Amino acid sequence: MLKTHGYAAHNNHSPLVPYSFERRNPGANDVQIEILFCGVCHSDIHQVRNEWGNANFPMIPGHEIVGKVTAIGNQVTGFSVGETVGIGCLVDSCGVCSDCADNLEQFCNSATFTYNSADNISGGNTYGGYSSQIVVNQHFVLHISDKLDAAAAAPLLCAGITTYSPLNHWQVGKGDKVGIVGLGGLGHMGVKFARAMGAHVVLFTTSASKVDDAIRLGAHEVVISKDTEAMQQHRLSFDFILNTVAAAHNLDSFTELLKRDGTLCLVGVPDQPHPSPAIGNLIFKRRQIAGSLIGGLKETQEMLDFCAEHNIVSDIEIIPIQRINQAYERILKSDVKYRFVIDLASLEAK
Ligand code: NAP
Ligand code: ZN
Repeated sequence: MLKTHGYAAHNNHSPLVPYSFERRNPGANDVQIEILFCGVCHSDIHQVRNEWGNANFPMIPGHEIVGKVTAIGNQVTGFSVGETVGIGCLVDSCGVCSDCADNLEQFCNSATFTYNSADNISGGNTYGGYSSQIVVNQHFVLHISDKLDAAAAAPLLCAGITTYSPLNHWQVGKGDKVGIVGLGGLGHMGVKFARAMGAHVVLFTTSASKVDDAIRLGAHEVVISKDTEAMQQHRLSFDFILNTVAAAHNLDSFTELLKRDGTLCLVGVPDQPHPSPAIGNLIFKRRQIAGSLIGGLKETQEMLDFCAEHNIVSDIEIIPIQRINQAYERILKSDVKYRFVIDLASLEAK
């Protein structure tokens, strides 16, 4: 077994603290990875605080992982020792159901998530990337181009694919007017992708202080979503709106901005339900409210390759792991530009 060090939550209210545990030795199809960087997703906070009601403790969060391959099993093809690789939100799935066959492993009924998920291979629960190393089946390991900064690429593994996938699925492109709601970890990637795909991008924010950043990141226009008059000016004009907000809020102010047949796609997962949307806003213009969950492995690799081609990474603030608890508090105050990334070199015990 592989002695591994990390930071864990032991309940839903105490700070994360150092924690040591063991990972399996790499099997024939496994890749062993020394973790260099791990992004901090708002989902980590939802889960550590048991806001989704499914927490298992101890919990080692982290599903935006970039590291170096340190060993490979004898059936592994396509990865070699020393290569930079990524691990996102998924580490296993059944491999035979229709979702897996369609390269949509995230929808597999037996999908194993990178942390806080039943581990069918090793037993117990999966432990994530706030740790020194990880062992993952090769199907769930991604290639990271040397053109991308390793730390700034880490958030692509969740924030990146979660925004790229719906923009791709709804075929956002030139001639489309696209809204992105919330300028956080997901939202700032949504702005970059929608812009790179050729759309006219409007960013909706509750934070007046983020307007200049939104333009710098690629938005053509910025609307303060609390300003009812400014919102009304965009009525009936959007083809697609991607909503990344992590808290329950009124969706009607966004559905009424959609054109006929437009879609509001939700990716935020608040701990409380949104107030019911007004049905009239939907049926009179055949508008849709949809949802999207990360993305499959094939699409995640496509997204990483798209990023290498278009020179897209996340805007990050690197922190030592000892500052993870303060980082959570800052994320909750929307005080992050625009993703914290843990430098695992800061772990004392390695
Ligand atoms: P984040 O960095 O905290 O960003 C969320 C942004 O939402 C904030 O920066 C803020 O932007 C806005 N916001 C926060 N509270 C708000 C409120 N009460 N009303 C209106 N706007 C508010 O979080 P994240 O890491 O991007 O994650 C966002 C959500 O997506 C979380 O719920 C997370 O669990 C979920 N998620 C889902 C998936 C998926 O597969 N569907 C994957 C990853 C994450 P402004 O300051 O600009 O208003
Ligand atoms: Zn995430």
